Amino acid sequence: MGTAPALRPETPAQERLASELLGWGSPRPRIDPELARDLRAQLEEGLTALEPDLSDAAARERRGGLLVTKTRLDRQVCDGLQLDPRPFEHTRASVRGILAHAVIERDGDLGRGADVEEVVAAVWYDEASRRPGDPASLSAWMNAQSAEDQAALRDELAELASSFREVWPELPERYVERQAERPIEVSLLGGRVRLFGRPDLLLSSATRDDRARALVVDLKTGRPRSEHDRHELRFYALLVTLADGRPPFRWATYYVTEGRYEPEDLRRETLELTARRVVDTAAQLVRLATLTADGGTPSDDELRLRGGGWCFMCAREEHCEVAARARAERAMSHPDDML
Ligand code: SF4
Repeated sequence: MGTAPALRPETPAQERLASELLGWGSPRPRIDPELARDLRAQLEEGLTALEPDLSDAAARERRGGLLVTKTRLDRQVCDGLQLDPRPFEHTRASVRGILAHAVIERDGDLGRGADVEEVVAAVWYDEASRRPGDPASLSAWMNAQSAEDQAALRDELAELASSFREVWPELPERYVERQAERPIEVSLLGGRVRLFGRPDLLLSSATRDDRARALVVDLKTGRPRSEHDRHELRFYALLVTLADGRPPFRWATYYVTEGRYEPEDLRRETLELTARRVVDTAAQLVRLATLTADGGTPSDDELRLRGGGWCFMCAREEHCEVAARARAERAMSHPDDML
């Protein structure tokens, strides 16, 4: 029998990450035993204030519950975006991101026992064989690329996986429980509201005591959007706290391309703020559901529209005056961006 791998960083970059992000060697914060219960109470109180419209809106949703996800939280910024998001289409950047996640996950499952090229080839084969007949599928996009473009993307993925290995120490199972894309659903008000998310990585210690010992990590391969990325993570931290009854000690965005991370440590106030954001989003969804009940189309005057950097994700962008005004204001204040 082989020896179990040790919990030991092997490069200076791994040492830094182990200390700054994984917090190895640092004491973990004690869990406030009231925290999860208080957050649930805060959410349920805020959501109850939306009744009776909340129950009507929930009844019209699938499974009879209003669903709050990170995507819906993001779209809260403008009613138009919440109602009419642009349909998702695969692009090279989005496919690179999806496959990079899959490769990093698989590499973790295999305990780094294979060359990165082999891991990439295995993931590529699996993903390219899934639903190839569906023209909107990831596999259809992958198979439509030329052989050169496919090879170039595979090389890029192998490079990303290698740099990930360079910075992340191996995390042996006997010390660290690693959950990739764990689906977490939290039911509130008897299921009339459901919060749902899948954090990329949830790392937990095998030690169970009165201290917070989980770390939530979101992997990003695209352009960093610090504030947006932080909101996303806080939502996952809230989900973990409510689902497990124990908060993570830290949550972090890891920018795979840059090998950089932005951590945030556990604070009650941060989770309370996130719970308020969830209630605000639910309030928006309920208001929009009321405006669009029985097939009604609300006028722009009835909607709360706000233009900004998110308009490119909105199907209304081309004809939206609010978006045009926001672009003009941006051009005045940041002329360099427009040249
Ligand atoms: S284009 Fe922008 S401002 Fe207009 S509805 Fe969409 S997100 Fe809102």
